[in-house]
Amino acid sequence: MASSTPRPAQPLLSAVVPFLNEAENLPRLIEALERTLPPLGQAWELVLVDDGSRDDSLAVAKAELQRRPQLNATLISLSRNFGKEAALTAGLEAAQGDVVVPLDADLQDPPELIGPMLEQWRQGFDVVYAVRRRRAGDSRTKRLTAFGFYRLMGRLSSTAIPADTGDFRLMDRCVVEALGQLPERSRFMKGLFAWVGFRQTAITYDRDARAKGQSGWSYWKLWNFALDGITSFSRVPLQVLSAGGLLIACLALLYGAWMVLRTLVFGIDLPGYASLMTAVLFLGGVQLLGLGVLGEYLGRVFEEVKRRPLYLVRERWRQGNALDPASTHR
Ligand code: UDP
Ligand code: MG
Repeated sequence: MASSTPRPAQPLLSAVVPFLNEAENLPRLIEALERTLPPLGQAWELVLVDDGSRDDSLAVAKAELQRRPQLNATLISLSRNFGKEAALTAGLEAAQGDVVVPLDADLQDPPELIGPMLEQWRQGFDVVYAVRRRRAGDSRTKRLTAFGFYRLMGRLSSTAIPADTGDFRLMDRCVVEALGQLPERSRFMKGLFAWVGFRQTAITYDRDARAKGQSGWSYWKLWNFALDGITSFSRVPLQVLSAGGLLIACLALLYGAWMVLRTLVFGIDLPGYASLMTAVLFLGGVQLLGLGVLGEYLGRVFEEVKRRPLYLVRERWRQGNALDPASTHR
């Protein structure tokens, strides 16, 4: 049980929604939020981040907001697709609420959960994250790879990253501020959420299939996302390499000693082409793999030292305010 720090009685709640090609889902999502949030009885704002959509999502989002002039809303349109992690960061930075809830635009994160989350927050928890009990709509392969990934991360990383947890969570302002202080470019949000700590608790839910459209995550994107996660939160792959190298070197030394002895005793026999090839190819493979792993880390160091902004804003639009084009950020 968390201790109860005083909470504002009437917190402002920010719903932060990054979206990529979600024209069909946005109207439903806004309706769902309008259905569930006002009954909770506190002020709320909507922060929409267009992550370089190529369909008419942006126009749809604007139209939806214009139809609701009373809605407290911010719409940020990024200059291109920067990926969900960057879009979410943009949204978190724009959110002004005392509590902030990132949601997917495809209604896979049910807004009905925000009520129970707020309840936990009032009890004194700073983060209430939603754990998926069931993942409807995800293919077997996706469920299996996700399962494998969470377990692998659990073993490799010293930061305990809760399994089957997405970005859907309710965060106190102090947590959002803490996330804003993390300077890294490679933003593996699941890991960062866990790394910042604070008093965290979980609630479980059944995850439905996405409402409309297709997931923006190809397997290639997921693979790189997994690599991002592992390289940002673990040095184990590098340690495995050095340990493996050491082991192979020791074995080679022993084998060398044995060959010298054998030659001294029995003389030289020439056959051995097969074993020679195997050893050469195997070691070549191991070396390339090692270079690859090193490269993954080095590439990320390269990204970090360039210190490019995480995202660029093409257009920032506040409900009621005029368009404010071409403002860049960070
Ligand atoms: N998304 C985004 N940028 C991207 C990919 C996805 O903003 O490059 C958004 C997407 O519109 C959705 C959320 O991130 O609101 C989750 O994406 P998706 O449903 O494709 O992921 P999944 O649920 O399959 O993990
Ligand atoms: Mg989804």
